[in-house]
Formats: sequence, C-alpha cells, structure tokens
Amino acid sequence: MQLVDSHCHPQMAQYDADRDAVICRALDQGIGLICVGTTLEDSRAGIRLAEQYPTQPVWAAVGVHPTDGDLDQVNPAELAAMLDHQKVVAIGESGLDFFRLAPDDVEARQLQADVLEQHLLLASQRQRPFIVHVRDRHGVFDAYDEVLTLLARHQFSRFVMHCYSGDWARAERFLELGGYLSFTGIVTFPKSEMMQEVARRAPIERIMIETDAPFLAPVPHRGQRNEPAHAPLVAEAIARLRAIPYQQVAEATTRAAEQFFGLKKTAV
Ligand SMILES: [Zn+2]
Repeated sequence: MQLVDSHCHPQMAQYDADRDAVICRALDQGIGLICVGTTLEDSRAGIRLAEQYPTQPVWAAVGVHPTDGDLDQVNPAELAAMLDHQKVVAIGESGLDFFRLAPDDVEARQLQADVLEQHLLLASQRQRPFIVHVRDRHGVFDAYDEVLTLLARHQFSRFVMHCYSGDWARAERFLELGGYLSFTGIVTFPKSEMMQEVARRAPIERIMIETDAPFLAPVPHRGQRNEPAHAPLVAEAIARLRAIPYQQVAEATTRAAEQFFGLKKTAV
C-alpha cells in the first residue's frame, strides 16, 4: 500500500452508478481504504462492500454518526456483533456534532454524549480503535473539550480525531492522551489556517490521511463529489505545509494507519 484513505464512505448512494470504478481507481494507485459507517444500516453496507474485495485492502468501520443516525435506535449489541467480521477494523464514526444544534437543546447534546460513551465503552472492552467525529460551533459550544474530558475519564487512548478541526492547544491534549489526528481535503482550502497549523506541528507518526469522500473534496476538486483516489492531494498538501517530500508523508501516514487499525493482521 502506498497510502491509506483512513475514512471514506464509498457505500453511500452517491456512488450507486459507478462504485466499483471509484474503488478500483483508488486500489490501482495503491490506496487502501476504510469504509466508515454512519448508521447501523450504512455500517452493514460498508461491510458488504469490503466483502466484495476479499483479497484487497478494503476494510470497514462500524458506528453511528451523531446526526446521520437515529440515536434513539442505537443498540450497542448490534454494533458489537459486527465487530466479529474479519474486515471490520474499528468502531466509528461516533461522536459529537453540535454544528446545527440550538444553544439550548440540552437534551440532544446529552443523547449524543450518551451514545458516544456507549461506543467508547464498547471500543474499550473489545480493544478496538475508535474513530471520533467532532463538529463544533466555535464560540457557542465546546464539543472538543467535552470529548477530551470523556476520553481522559475512561483513560482511552486508541482513538483518531477524524477531520480534526480544533486548535493546536486542544490537538496537543488529544496527542498527550495517545490519540491520532486525521486530515481531509479541508487542509487544502486557503482559509483553513488553524487546521494547517495543526497539520504542520503534529508529530508525523500520529497523522493519518483521509478523504471523507463523497464529502470535502480537496482543491482542485472542491465542491465536487470526492473519492478515495483523491487522497494523495491531501498528503501533498501536508508535505507542502511541512516542507518535506510527499513520499515521507505517504510512508509515515500509511505506517500510522497500519499500526492504529492493525491492518497487517487482517487477511487481505
Ligand atoms: Zn465521515
């Protein structure tokens, strides 16, 4: 593998017309991919997709996104059962998304926090890596601080902050807890200075690359449907920010993903 797209959603409907071609464009470039679930049904679809590439580096993660899934319906036992599948390498994405919440919607925030904690306990019990989704509304909520508190309370260290969009001060605290940070195409946007600072300063062995496809396409595809084959554009942007060769970023982030998700132990 030359690169790992550590977080993408090729099972989503956006790829119904050309899913296999999209996946093959990534595999042909040596890009492995992790199909991340956002609801129970979407998690099952990710597993079914990974099964279609039994000998290729296509894996699945199972979770319920805080605003895509029906959090009232989440049954940890169903997620737990999915972990037994040999292509499932992680729990997630799960987390807190306060972006569209009204400031006084305490109940919705509590429900998200409860589900996050359930998934965290499952990851802890089953010793699985955990993909954390956090979306803040800067100046209104502090979802990152809440997640930091929860991770510290459970002394849970095997996590990655997907599409990390917080500041460097908080990034340091996630890194101190033992976590990883992953970056999307947003890092290629000119106005993403805070994210670029984190991508420049974080230890390279704790960074991962992701596309979050079909969302967040990097420049020059901004605004279009994204795909895992665009992952090198994210790695290139990080190489430029750090003034190091692309190959160094590709190798370090691939090794980080292999270690974090235990990819070499899985049968591909
Ligand atoms: Zn995602």
